Amino acid sequence: MSALGDIIEAALAKPRNLSARQIETLVAVEYPAEIRAVREAAYALKVRHCGKTVSMRGLVEQGNVCAKDCLYCGIRKSNAAVRRYSLPYEEVLRAAEEAARLDYGSIVLQSGEIESEEHTRFVEKCLRGMQALPGGPFGITLSLGEQEDGVYRRWKAAGASRYLLRIETSNRELYAAMHPEGHSWERRRRCLDVLRACGYQTGTGVMSGLPGQTARDLAADVEFFAECDADMIGMGPFIPHGETPMGAGAAVTPEFKARQLRTGLNMISATRLFLHDVNIAATTALQTLAPDGREQGVLAGANVMMPNVTDVKWRKDYALYEGKPCTDENAAMCRGCLERRLAAIGETVNYGKRGDSAHFFARCAAAGTRA
Ligand code: SAH
Repeated sequence: MSALGDIIEAALAKPRNLSARQIETLVAVEYPAEIRAVREAAYALKVRHCGKTVSMRGLVEQGNVCAKDCLYCGIRKSNAAVRRYSLPYEEVLRAAEEAARLDYGSIVLQSGEIESEEHTRFVEKCLRGMQALPGGPFGITLSLGEQEDGVYRRWKAAGASRYLLRIETSNRELYAAMHPEGHSWERRRRCLDVLRACGYQTGTGVMSGLPGQTARDLAADVEFFAECDADMIGMGPFIPHGETPMGAGAAVTPEFKARQLRTGLNMISATRLFLHDVNIAATTALQTLAPDGREQGVLAGANVMMPNVTDVKWRKDYALYEGKPCTDENAAMCRGCLERRLAAIGETVNYGKRGDSAHFFARCAAAGTRA
């Protein structure tokens, strides 16, 4: 049997059954027949662990005020072209209500990074308000960046059950090249341990297709997910933003887009093949590269989507990268669109379910702790 066939067979047999070199082979596949074989195997595992259904998280983009200055991100502090906004409590609740009305069962609250007592209290208030809405309690994921240990504990106590903090890249030198001084890979890494210790279903992820990033780096990223025993993975291809140091002057050609999409999908498949039972998101960045990018993400092994429920009037201001889709469609339109798109690939929407990470319960059971 071919080398790739052996790798796939080993991956299907049990989780974490591949060497770094084998993972590298998976993330680098580029011939159609090889790509097909890898995606089919990853999709089979997705169906084995999650069924033919996709869990939804209504995404609330709470605000784009950010203290960080990441060289790739459109809402970085130094980008003066951004109109900054911060949704008031009532609007956060209205967006959450919309997610509940659409029967998504789960909500993500995301924003730029702010560390202050005022912000901490505001998020606590939003969490309590959301959990008191009819249809709750909801699975609520926070994606609010690096915080002090005590802040993570307070938000957990106020009703959050999951936290997503992408490491962005497991390669520290590459991380240093993409961030200004004062942004610390070590702090971010430590935050992931603290989140786990607080009892969150803990998610991380990376951007793929970064300048200077190799297949070996990407394989190390997949190993990193295993090493920190992540329950959820949210990753996506890097897409240049013209108002950022890493995006200025970048030529987004059809070839570039095709390559970014392929690598992003390969990463989903490699992660599913290595980790088996984690939740993996088909992120919006994939859809920026191809109209059916998220469905391709599901067919590559993802089982979660994050449709936007933020009022359309704010969406253009939350531009992390260029060409973000669906900035002019309201949430109800997204719901119908997603349902049809998923039906076309033989998948249903997991309406009304929290869609928790199976891995989280497995690791809690193994540790003898209560989920
Ligand atoms: N402030 C939060 C989350 C907001 S940013 C935090 O720090 O975790 C959400 C994610 O968008 C980032 O983690 C990053 O991986 C992604 N992102 C930012 N700029 C991007 C770009 N140009 N292309 C693709 N993804 C990008």
